[in-house]
Amino acid sequence: MTVNAGVVAVQGDVSEHAEAIRSAANSHGMDADVTEIRRSGIVPDCDILLMPGGESTSISRLLAREGIDAEIQDHVDAGKPMLATCAGLIVASMDASDDRVETLNVIDATVDRNAFGRQKDSFEAPLDVKGLDEPFPAVFIRAPLIADVGGDAEVLATWDGNPVAVKDGPVVGTSFHPELTSDSRIHDLAFFGTQEATF
Ligand code: GLN
Repeated sequence: MTVNAGVVAVQGDVSEHAEAIRSAANSHGMDADVTEIRRSGIVPDCDILLMPGGESTSISRLLAREGIDAEIQDHVDAGKPMLATCAGLIVASMDASDDRVETLNVIDATVDRNAFGRQKDSFEAPLDVKGLDEPFPAVFIRAPLIADVGGDAEVLATWDGNPVAVKDGPVVGTSFHPELTSDSRIHDLAFFGTQEATF
C-alpha cells in the first residue's frame, strides 16, 4: 500500500524529510508518495503531513497567503498525522512569542523562537524519547524553546530540563531536526507509531 505524504516546501530539508518518510514507510512494508506543498489543494489528498524547519515567519506567510493554513487545520481535525520540526513546530504551536508568526494552534504549547539559539547556535545530543528504545541523535539548529506545554499535549522528550518533543493528538512537534541523520525513528513514531491500522 502507498501512503500519500505532503511536505510543506517553502524552505527546509524537503528531500531529507522525504527520504526519512519513505524509509519509515518501507519499514512497515508500505511505500510513500511524497508531494511538495506550495499551494492549496494538495493537503486534502494527503494521509500524512510534514512541516519542516526554516524560518517560521516565511512559512507562516506562505501558508496564510495560499490558504494552506486552514487545510492543515482540517487535516489535524480529521485525526491525520503531522510531524512539525523546528520552525514547523513554531508555526504549529499556539503562540510563538513573535507577532510576525501566524500560528496554526494545532499543538497545545507556546514556543519562544530562537531561544536556544541565543545560547548556542547548533548542537547534537543523544535524546531519550518516549516510545523509542534507544536514544535518538537529535540535531538542534537555532532551535525554538518550548516555553509552556498545555494540558492537551504530552511531552515526549526533554533536554536540559526543557521539553524538546511534544505530541498533541495526531501531531508530533520537535524543536530539533530529525531529518539530519539517517535515523528515521522520529518519522516512524509520528506517522506509523500508533496509526498503522488506519492507512
Ligand atoms: N529559529 C528559526 C525560526 O524562528 C527556526 C530555526 C530552524 O528551523 N532551524 O523560524
